[in-house]
Amino acid sequence: MQKVINIAEPDIGVEEKKAVQKVLDSGMITQGPKTLQFEKEFARYIGTKHAIAVSSGTAALHIALLAQRIGAGDEVITSPFTFIATANSIVSTGAKPIFADIEEDTYNIDPEDVKEKITSKTTAIMPVHLFGHPADMKALTDICDDNKLILIEDACQAHGASVDGKNAGAFGTGCFSFYPTKNMTTSEGGMITTDDEEIDKLARRIRNHGMEEKYHHIMLGFNFRTTDIASAIGVEQLRKLEANNNRRVENARYLSKKIRNKDITLPTVRKGCRHVFNQYTTRHPRRYDVVEKLVSEGIGYGIYYPVPIHRQKTYLERGYNESHLKCEKACDEVLSIPVHPRLSEENLEFICKTLNSI
Ligand SMILES: *Cc1c(COP(=O)(O)O)cnc(C)c1O
Repeated sequence: MQKVINIAEPDIGVEEKKAVQKVLDSGMITQGPKTLQFEKEFARYIGTKHAIAVSSGTAALHIALLAQRIGAGDEVITSPFTFIATANSIVSTGAKPIFADIEEDTYNIDPEDVKEKITSKTTAIMPVHLFGHPADMKALTDICDDNKLILIEDACQAHGASVDGKNAGAFGTGCFSFYPTKNMTTSEGGMITTDDEEIDKLARRIRNHGMEEKYHHIMLGFNFRTTDIASAIGVEQLRKLEANNNRRVENARYLSKKIRNKDITLPTVRKGCRHVFNQYTTRHPRRYDVVEKLVSEGIGYGIYYPVPIHRQKTYLERGYNESHLKCEKACDEVLSIPVHPRLSEENLEFICKTLNSI
């Protein structure tokens, strides 16, 4: 039997190891010069004036909301089909997440339903660029402009995704994660991107206990700092990001060409969009038949996500008792299969052969 094909695998090489060794030898192992370098290079890559490195993607979302002065009494419209951190970051500020249903093909928030959910309390929209496919940014930025709403992007799965050449994270306040399953990693880590000097200043303050001058705290903050060890990994990972994203796109193209099981719905890419395939997500009306076969052949898989956020226990307890039919159907049918850059052609061929044999 051939060895297991993982659903995700970080691409850590000798460059990352050397860079970490250098930081360790320098004695400056908390947040320092390497983090400033990482921020500068990440901002340049995304195409924003500023980038602020933090301890996780969750911290990035939380800080972005706080820096935009979102809190108690505010409603933030977001997707119910995402990792729980998206909604939890809103709850953490005291604001209320309001869920809008998704588009069936891209799995991203549906601008038409977003419009329906706007009330006098709405202050922001937080789309998620799920699986690496950008949300409908043309429609969503129009809605924000028309209703004077703040745009905060959960780009935690979308490093390098773009719409008409403009990168995810450059439309509003961008939030990224560097968890090991994402398109680039720092082990744990995150980044906020913005063109707004004030947001940059506030985010840096909130990251470090609201501190302006040493031990003078002018507002409430947290310890959401990163480390130069993480940033050293990040600088090297950023150098590989384009090549690795291209590998993901090529792998996805291979899968879409060679999978011929008519019960499996393949992912789509909207015109003008660069999908960076953090996940290659298919759907199948009886996905556990597929799962069984994948498991027996040693092929990794993921179900992102089996339960919509409005059906999670902690949200039911908060009084959410609504329905979002397209999201719920996706939760019942989605199945992600390996697409990461370390797959060999042999791996890809084997995955397709296995799926076609069902
Ligand atoms: C990974 C992820 C997050 C959270 O990032 P962490 O670094 O794990 O805190 C938030 N939103 C989405 C959509 C994610 O995929």
